[in-house]
This record gives sequence, C-alpha cells and structure tokens, in this order.
Amino acid sequence: MIRVTIWNEFRHEQTEPVKSIYPQGIHEAIAKGIAAEDLEIRCATLDEPEHGLTDELLESTDVLLWWGHIAHKAVSDEVVAKVRARVLRGMGLIVLHSGHYSKIFQAMLGTSCSLRWRQVAEKERLWVVDPSHPIVKGIPQTFTLEHEEMYGEPFGIPDDGKIVFMSWFQGGDVFRSGVTFQRGSGKIFYFQPGHETFPTYYDVNVLKVIGNAIRWAVPADTGFAWDCPRCEPVEPIPPAGE
Ligand code: ZN
Repeated sequence: MIRVTIWNEFRHEQTEPVKSIYPQGIHEAIAKGIAAEDLEIRCATLDEPEHGLTDELLESTDVLLWWGHIAHKAVSDEVVAKVRARVLRGMGLIVLHSGHYSKIFQAMLGTSCSLRWRQVAEKERLWVVDPSHPIVKGIPQTFTLEHEEMYGEPFGIPDDGKIVFMSWFQGGDVFRSGVTFQRGSGKIFYFQPGHETFPTYYDVNVLKVIGNAIRWAVPADTGFAWDCPRCEPVEPIPPAGE
C-alpha cells in the first residue's frame, strides 16, 4: 500500500462559489477521484493542530500532495522545515496549482516560483512532452480543460526541472504545466491545473495524472541516509612520505 496524505488549505471552500463546486473540500474531491486499491489516503488541513502534519503522520506518509493559495503565510515555518526534511529523506511531494507559491515549494526549489497569471476562464490545452514518463501513462498526447486559470511563462523554477507537460492557453500564453524535480532522495512533481472556481479535480485526465504521479513519487527505500558520515578509504593509502 502507498500511504498518501492530501494536504489542503481548505479556506476557499468555506464560501461560495467554491463551496458548491467542492462541498467537502478540494482534498476530499481528489481523494475520491484517485481512490484505488493500492492507495491508503489520509487528508490534513491548515486549521488542524500542526496543520494536521504531525511527526507521526509525516513519518508514515510516502507521498504528500499540497494545495494552498490564500493562506501560504499562515503555514508555520516549523512545519515547513519538517516537511522539507522528510522530502530530503525520500517522501514524494506533489504540488498542485497555486501551491507554486507555497513555502514548501519555494523551500524545496530555492527560487521565486513566480509566474504570470490571469483568471478569465479560458481554455487550456495540455501537451505531453515526455511520452515515456510514467506520469503520463494512459494520458492522451494532448487534452483540454474548458476553463482554467492562465499560468504563464516565465516560471521561476530551477532549470534542473524535467518537463512532462506543456500548456497552451486561449489567450496565447504557454507554461511548463507539469515538471519533475529531485531534492535529496525525494521526488517532486508540480502540476498546474486546479483553480478552485473550476471543477478541474473531477476531470478524468487530471485525476489520472495525479494518481500516476503518486505511484512515480513513492520513496525508493534504498536505505541511504544523507547524514554526512566520516568514511575509511576503500583502497589502501601508503603512509605519507613513502
Ligand atoms: Zn488559481
């Protein structure tokens, strides 16, 4: 079983129009949409103690999903530091939509994570850039979302990101809408669709991408620890001066 935790800010859903689209919250819609026999899914939200991300939950999480927008600053630096350390030790991290500006995404990547945006309900066309990547298994070469928020280049991410999806928006902009990274032992995937006023997390392709990304981001469990050990030589070294 893959132990998945879906973290959601869960603020927009308290009021309309988002309340009607996601009555139980974006996290519950995603949980329902990706439900499968190999996934054990828990949810955590901002207003729980420790934002729901206790040591016990983080230690027992293989892959963490992150959706946030209006309350990035309300996330405690202490929790961000714990999540970051856990990713470096192998936990997968999937950052969704406006999570591009979350403390945890910025902490993992070390750059602004800034982008251009426009919210006018335009069409988005996603293109698979890497058809051999496990994240796009079962996904058509291209698919559309009738209405999405435009996120446009330049996107302030480091250039070691591997592009899985590119998007075109009706207004003419383009965006690296699916990008993978590795930090320490942890795999990271950023996926752009998911503006809260659109029913994006009911889209069959979007849900399939998220499910695929979870299975891709599972820790490799090689037993390696990034703990900076002093080590003995593996080849004999003659004493100095001989
Ligand atoms: Zn948005």
